[in-house]
Amino acid sequence: MGKLLGLWRKKAMMYDADSSFNKMKKREIIMKDYLVKGLAYNGQVRIIAARTVDTVGEAQHRHYTWPTASAALGRSMTFGVMLGSMLNNEDKLTIRINGGGDLGTILVDANANGKVRGYVTNPQTHFPLNSIGKLDVRRAVGTDGMVTISKNIGLQQPFVGQVPIISGELGEDFTYYLAQSEQIPSSVGVGVIVNPDNTIQAAGGFIIQALPGTAVEIIEEIEKRLDRIPTISAMVRDGLTPEEILTMVVGEGNVKILETQEVLFQCTCSKDRSTKVLVSLGSAELQDMIETDGQAETQCHFCNETYQFNKSELEAMLEQAV
Ligand SMILES: [Zn+2]
Repeated sequence: MGKLLGLWRKKAMMYDADSSFNKMKKREIIMKDYLVKGLAYNGQVRIIAARTVDTVGEAQHRHYTWPTASAALGRSMTFGVMLGSMLNNEDKLTIRINGGGDLGTILVDANANGKVRGYVTNPQTHFPLNSIGKLDVRRAVGTDGMVTISKNIGLQQPFVGQVPIISGELGEDFTYYLAQSEQIPSSVGVGVIVNPDNTIQAAGGFIIQALPGTAVEIIEEIEKRLDRIPTISAMVRDGLTPEEILTMVVGEGNVKILETQEVLFQCTCSKDRSTKVLVSLGSAELQDMIETDGQAETQCHFCNETYQFNKSELEAMLEQAV
């Protein structure tokens, strides 16, 4: 794990010298992360695409993820935020993936408003590029396990869907999840490109779904197009906007955008929430913290933020605790 990082860096640096990289860098400055939702083929096909460069970049920066881990987490966060955009206002979803690989568990939370957060158990996971020169996400994730997605949609129990990991590259796994668990014929593309200094160069994806009653010819047409067009990684690398990605997938003049939404890495943790957690530990535990260290620190799994508590703050908690 991570031993061949030097070699990987050398290869990536060769790409860095490419002029297309500099061209794209200029474009990045003016473009923020966002997703677009719409319809194609006279409303028969649902289309979503997202740019998630800064969002995945924020996750990379917060968790110090190495390239293969960044790709796995970034692909999952990109899918999460797109899937989340199909929920209603207050609804939320959680994606949990564990395939038995070195990465451990990938956990992603997303809501209906473009906010997403996520982490992996072992952020410093990296492997040499695979046989086709891509980040070896399959090896990091593993193929012995499940993709589990739970949706909180205002019911007493969350809706939980689960499928076995069939690829480990994740795009195919998400496609399989939608077909099996939600019974919607779909195609999911997610891609992340990492810079030599481990920052995120590009990230994005799309979801195409055939709504009930979609004509077979349309599905066949989309499948043919998906075979012909560049891979999502290539489109992401070339800095295509979400609108451009959708145009590539469903064809010029077929895209009808209905909604545009900002996409952002955002966590729900706060010092106040951490206080409540500490209070819930009970007075004996708090008393012990006060006597042993005279202070406490909590850390959020999702965003790596730490919260410090001094002695007087702990003493105030002790009064509330049981
Ligand atoms: Zn947090």
